[in-house]
Amino acid sequence: NNPPGNGDSTTARLRFCLIGFGDSSYLQYNFVAKKLHRRLCLLGANSACPLALANDQDELGPDQAFLPFAETVSALLTDTFSVRCACIGSCLDAPLPPLYRVDAIAAEKSTDSTHTTAANQVVVVVGADGPRLPPPETGYQLARIVANKRVTAEDHFQDTRLITLSPAPTSAESPSPTLWPPFQPGDVLQVLPSNSQSAVSSLLSTLSHLDPETRLRVSQSDPNFPPPPDLPPAGPTLRWLLTNYFDISCVPRRSFFETLRRIAMGIGDEVATTTEEDSSRLDMEIERLGEFVRDVDELAAYCNRPRRTVAETLRDFPLSASRIRLSRLFDLLRPIQPRSFSIASLGQSGCSSLDLLVAVVRYKSKLMSEPRLGLCSNYLASAGPGSVVTVRLQRGTLRVPPVDVPLVLVGPGTGIAPFRGLVQQRHGVVNGQGDEAPGAGSAQTLVFFGCRHPEKDFYFQSDWLEWSRLWPDKFQLATAFSRPTSDSGQQTKCYVQDRIRELGADVAKLLLLGGGAVIVAGSSGAMRARFYQLCRLL
Ligand SMILES: Cc1cc2nc3c(=O)[nH]c(=O)nc-3n(C[C@H](O)[C@H](O)[C@H](O)COP(=O)(O)OP(=O)(O)OC[C@H]3O[C@@H](n4cnc5c(N)ncnc54)[C@H](O)[C@@H]3O)c2cc1C
Repeated sequence: NNPPGNGDSTTARLRFCLIGFGDSSYLQYNFVAKKLHRRLCLLGANSACPLALANDQDELGPDQAFLPFAETVSALLTDTFSVRCACIGSCLDAPLPPLYRVDAIAAEKSTDSTHTTAANQVVVVVGADGPRLPPPETGYQLARIVANKRVTAEDHFQDTRLITLSPAPTSAESPSPTLWPPFQPGDVLQVLPSNSQSAVSSLLSTLSHLDPETRLRVSQSDPNFPPPPDLPPAGPTLRWLLTNYFDISCVPRRSFFETLRRIAMGIGDEVATTTEEDSSRLDMEIERLGEFVRDVDELAAYCNRPRRTVAETLRDFPLSASRIRLSRLFDLLRPIQPRSFSIASLGQSGCSSLDLLVAVVRYKSKLMSEPRLGLCSNYLASAGPGSVVTVRLQRGTLRVPPVDVPLVLVGPGTGIAPFRGLVQQRHGVVNGQGDEAPGAGSAQTLVFFGCRHPEKDFYFQSDWLEWSRLWPDKFQLATAFSRPTSDSGQQTKCYVQDRIRELGADVAKLLLLGGGAVIVAGSSGAMRARFYQLCRLL
């Protein structure tokens, strides 16, 4: 808390190197590292090397910034203190104990994970073979899919789903929650997906030396690492772990190859002897794995650019994979991370269902014959009505201004999702304390929406048209179609930023004269940058 420039003797003598780890798809990417760096400099400390910002979105993931940073720090330490530093990869062959102890507890076969109550309600039994459910204090709960409808035209390349979910009970004894806790526009639902059955079966055949149905006990082996809290108390099976816990569809990182190489070499583990032929093939696999650890360009060419998955990589290294012991799976594979989806419905006072607008991620990559599938969006797309998923309501980063502040909302594609609830809340419900009409006192809202074609991917079209009719003085929708046809009402290609420029006078009036605010939603960083540029021009 020293004032700027008045660093005490400790900070004034401090030379530091700083790296932050973040994901640039989030607005405040690497915020803490940037702030800490600024603060240390203000306090008089000396930054010995430029601030490094590791980014999950970089082609090589965090390694892209981390590896050069580690080299720099290593050189600085050697120069300054004349110490020899362990370079990346130099401690590859030291034995490390497994993160957890994993023992087979019984050769039980899996049991059914659902049963039907007298009220004909399907109840999910968590803890046996049901879905992964982190402890209650994490805020996770189960939800049932009520409806799952494709909202893009069947002949459109993009499959987008409107998915409606209601809360679901976690056991036959627990009371059935009927309402979601209240949520605000911009809040998100985090979904914990599972891997597809085909991906799991394929990986199980690669790991055919392990029994998929044996129940396992995962216990602590290092005092610093308590076992994961979200495994079934009765013990997971390998099939359960590969289905619900480990991310087998992500692109493996350098550490994966490092760990697999150690496993293949039998470092720290007893391994079965191999035939001479297998032994020389195994040596080739180990050599190749070592290349990926040492050479980031090789790694990028093999897995980052083609978006090769963990499961596909293990298939390419069958002899190394055949040496994986159950206890090493936790060293090798990462748990599945939740994905966020903006809630696309109104939930101010609690409601029995909520909507998500989910664009299904599916694309081709060079070298890989199979299409690449986003884990969570495909998981949701394939979950029919009645399916149960693990979710958690989270506060969004959107801070909605009071209703009397004019708003310009910019939401291309699925970026429009949070604005559906927001517009309804501003204009369709009673916002004040008294008994005035819905939307009384609310200022104007101008929404910019961009998509390809009005008949292919115009999300929530009927809602927008209805609201334009209901609240003509307060609500206006401006559309931009980037692939219009002659019969679609718009003749030439138009992007959201073109429409904003066209309606520049209206935007300027709302923002400058009306003291309005702008909210931009969606993942297109380029669109966001162009929009801010436009605002400055206006
Ligand atoms: C706050 C917030 C709100 C969100 N709201 C929504 C929403 O309302 N609706 C919605 O659909 N999504 C939303 N998302 C995105 C969502 O969380 C997921 O990231 C998205 O659904 C993809 O997840 P997945 O598991 O299907 O794909 P993953 O398995 O995570 O794969 C996605 C990765 O695939 C790669 N990829 C994707 N397409 C291509 C391509 N064409 N070429 C090369 N690589 C590619 C990218 O590296 C991307 O990171 C939101 C995200 C955040 C942070």
